[in-house]
Amino acid sequence: MIPVTDPLRVLAPAADVLVVGGGLAALRTVAALREHGYDGPVRVLGAEGLAPYDRPPLSKHLLDRTSPTWLADDLGHDLDALADEVHLARPARGLRLRPGGGATVLTDDGEVTSSCVVLATGARAVSVPGWRAATLHTAADADALRAVLAGGPRRLVVVGAGWIGAEVAGVTAAAGHDVVVVEARSTPLAAALGEQVGALTTPWYAAAGVELRTSAPVAAVDGTGVGLADGTRLSADTVLVAVGARPATAWLADAVPLRAGAVPVDESYRVLGTSGPLPGLLAVGDVAVRRSARHGWVPGGHWDEALHGPDVLVRRLLGLTVDEPETVPYVFSTQLGHDLTMFGLPARDDVVTVLGDPTGSGWTALWTRGDSVTGALVVDRPRDVGAARRLFARDGLPHVALRGPDVPEDLRTLLRASPAT
Ligand SMILES: Cc1cc2nc3c(=O)[nH]c(=O)nc-3n(C[C@H](O)[C@H](O)[C@H](O)COP(=O)(O)OP(=O)(O)OC[C@H]3O[C@@H](n4cnc5c(N)ncnc54)[C@H](O)[C@@H]3O)c2cc1C
Repeated sequence: MIPVTDPLRVLAPAADVLVVGGGLAALRTVAALREHGYDGPVRVLGAEGLAPYDRPPLSKHLLDRTSPTWLADDLGHDLDALADEVHLARPARGLRLRPGGGATVLTDDGEVTSSCVVLATGARAVSVPGWRAATLHTAADADALRAVLAGGPRRLVVVGAGWIGAEVAGVTAAAGHDVVVVEARSTPLAAALGEQVGALTTPWYAAAGVELRTSAPVAAVDGTGVGLADGTRLSADTVLVAVGARPATAWLADAVPLRAGAVPVDESYRVLGTSGPLPGLLAVGDVAVRRSARHGWVPGGHWDEALHGPDVLVRRLLGLTVDEPETVPYVFSTQLGHDLTMFGLPARDDVVTVLGDPTGSGWTALWTRGDSVTGALVVDRPRDVGAARRLFARDGLPHVALRGPDVPEDLRTLLRASPAT
């Protein structure tokens, strides 16, 4: 159950809704408004000039899906039919809060005022000033990367062995390109999973024909390759910098207080000002960081949050009940021939236990803090994904011992493999 500290003002029948953003969270917000019976005016402002599309295939299917995976096909929502006005190439440039609630959004050609504004501007790829390199966040980025890889084997250097770097390295090496991944940390996926678990993915690179260089900070990137901090030079036809994404909040300037660069929201996705929720202003998806009794602050970057968060946002906005547990942070990845599914939000100092044989046909990592399970990573064990998901389908963190008669059935399923030595 979503904890409610104070009742929401139900969206007045005369109210209108303005959704800023043209991605998954924006589309799902508009669809949820209609699904839950809201029939007032809905307007949408986007920036890319494209109908909403799915981002995960941009890396996983970089070379075998050459046009966007439209969310209208995947989710069955037609944005043009659901909203009254859709402007997909009219980016928001600024925001002014209105004293009575809602906000005015500034655009290049004027302004749009609404009593209820939903911020869903997602994230942008991190780029490093002075580096001449590609990034991968949009359909246009994917087109540009495909163009330089076209016409024969190329040498690609990927900076960053995170989720997207690993995915791109895998699909490009499989297509015959010469791929080197350089990573400043000592293992891949260190920021997401920690070094101990990240190290278990190191052998995947060589097995997939990718050269991985860890503990190799990059000093410079120019049109011909990468210079490492130790003086090594790696030539490349193209360099992809995949060092993370940040919430797309620059356009907000100081209109709302940010938390680690993201828009802080409560459990109902209301934007939190310095003294509580700002009336008529909500945020969802990658742009937001959500307060959670179960996990602390949950950052964006999770496709599942952008899919399911809008439904909770809309139900709370319309005064409808939300009686299921909050969405669990969930990330999936297909990389270098392996399937990864991660639930929860472990902290750096949580204790990790690896179950099964990481060199074998599948394994699971469980993070614990005291007697609470804070995260579960399932690798190449599709039948355990449901058990891991159900583990978090409750209001609090699962409080369990990893051994003994009181271990819940879902955890027992995950634990059937002995801890790795
Ligand atoms: C290559 C890639 C692979 C990924 N793979 C996975 C995965 O395997 N698993 C997973 O869980 N997640 C994955 N993600 C993350 C996932 O795609 C995001 O969590 C999800 O797209 C978030 O949706 P969103 O609508 O909040 O933001 P976005 O998808 O970023 O959409 C935001 C939209 O708002 C628009 N916008 C930005 N600024 C403005 C403005 N000022 N005015 C108007 N519009 C604006 C943008 O152009 C964009 O269309 C991946 C992301 C990328 C880039």
